[in-house]
Amino acid sequence: MGRVAEPLSEPLVERMRGFGTTIFAEMSALAASTGSINLGQGFPDTDGPPAMLAAAVAAIEGGGNQYPPGPGLPELRAAVADQREDRYGLGYDPETEVYVTVGATEGVAASVLALAGPGDEVVAFEPTYDSYAATVALAGAALRPVLLRPDAGRFTFDPAELRAAVTPRTRVLLVNSPHNPCGTVFTRDELAEIAAVCVEHDLTAVTDEVYEYLTYDGAEHVPLATFPGMRERTLTVSSVGKTFSVTGWKTGWVTGPAPLVRAVQTVKQFLTYATGGPWQRAAAYALREELPWVAELRAALERKRDRLLAGLEAAGFLAYRPQGTYFVQADIRPLGYTDGLELARALPGLAGVVAVPTQVFYQRPADGAHFVRFAFCKRDEVIDEAVARLAGLGRDRARA
Ligand SMILES: *Cc1c(COP(=O)(O)O)cnc(C)c1O
Repeated sequence: MGRVAEPLSEPLVERMRGFGTTIFAEMSALAASTGSINLGQGFPDTDGPPAMLAAAVAAIEGGGNQYPPGPGLPELRAAVADQREDRYGLGYDPETEVYVTVGATEGVAASVLALAGPGDEVVAFEPTYDSYAATVALAGAALRPVLLRPDAGRFTFDPAELRAAVTPRTRVLLVNSPHNPCGTVFTRDELAEIAAVCVEHDLTAVTDEVYEYLTYDGAEHVPLATFPGMRERTLTVSSVGKTFSVTGWKTGWVTGPAPLVRAVQTVKQFLTYATGGPWQRAAAYALREELPWVAELRAALERKRDRLLAGLEAAGFLAYRPQGTYFVQADIRPLGYTDGLELARALPGLAGVVAVPTQVFYQRPADGAHFVRFAFCKRDEVIDEAVARLAGLGRDRARA
């Protein structure tokens, strides 16, 4: 979770100090206490496919309520293996190469905990998803960030900086594409660069692909595992949360070669042992039957993105056009602000809207000081109302 300015002290274990309360807790509480529109936390305000919800209910009512197998229900592992094959041409054995986890969050955590320990380093593109830094700290490893910077309207990395971040201690390269919060979908060229570094330095890649279906403007999501030499060194993580608008279900999976999946298993079985059974049954159903629903969701989110982008630009932000995910990164400097944390705390009072200051997702907050993140996975009328409220921001600032 996002780091906070004031570290907690005892009784928290040393390596977790600096990871106090998440920014989402602070900002969501602020939204509630001020009656603001919450574009901070990334959860949809509409439900997943009705038949998928019904499948979970049927699983509960049908007696599927005791421990499922640790690796996951066979029907879900088979559905995941088929999905990777049909969509990406990646073959995985559902028995030994697919493992069901408590959301992508546990999938990433179990992977990192299995592969990196004290003295080891994990390289990740920054800003990082909020669990990564804490997970690496929990493992006792060190996070080496590679900065994503805007270049021609899109966040990307400098290959030389990626290479410089890798040391003899590096064990894992953690890759999130489509990227939260930058909205970048790595191109084949960028992925080839990442793959080359992994192969050269014998690194394991852990890829977080939870937005694999949610890409826009024709951007294509390509799994890193499809690159030469990568299938055998990549653990790929995804989940139902974003794909099917059920972020509360916390049901995901890891796919990879059997030795790496066995390593994940060794950790996961002692974190949570298994993952909720009814959700797994519904997830298996949805992967097979609800992809047309997901295609509609994708198209709707692209329109929502455009709605929010237009509004943020009109309000005076420099808003970056995301190629995927739920989020827009916005530079606040054109509005005369420089500190996103300060603005995010003031925004409910100024405009009745809540956003997330992106600086909490950087090792050095100064690198992301001037960005805030807005979520567009909301009903159109909610986005429109937020945009109307934000419209006064630049005007008021100009007058002040
Ligand atoms: C939402 C999100 C997750 C969490 O997924 P769960 O399945 O809810 O654990 C992981 N990674 C990224 C990049 C996300 O945006």
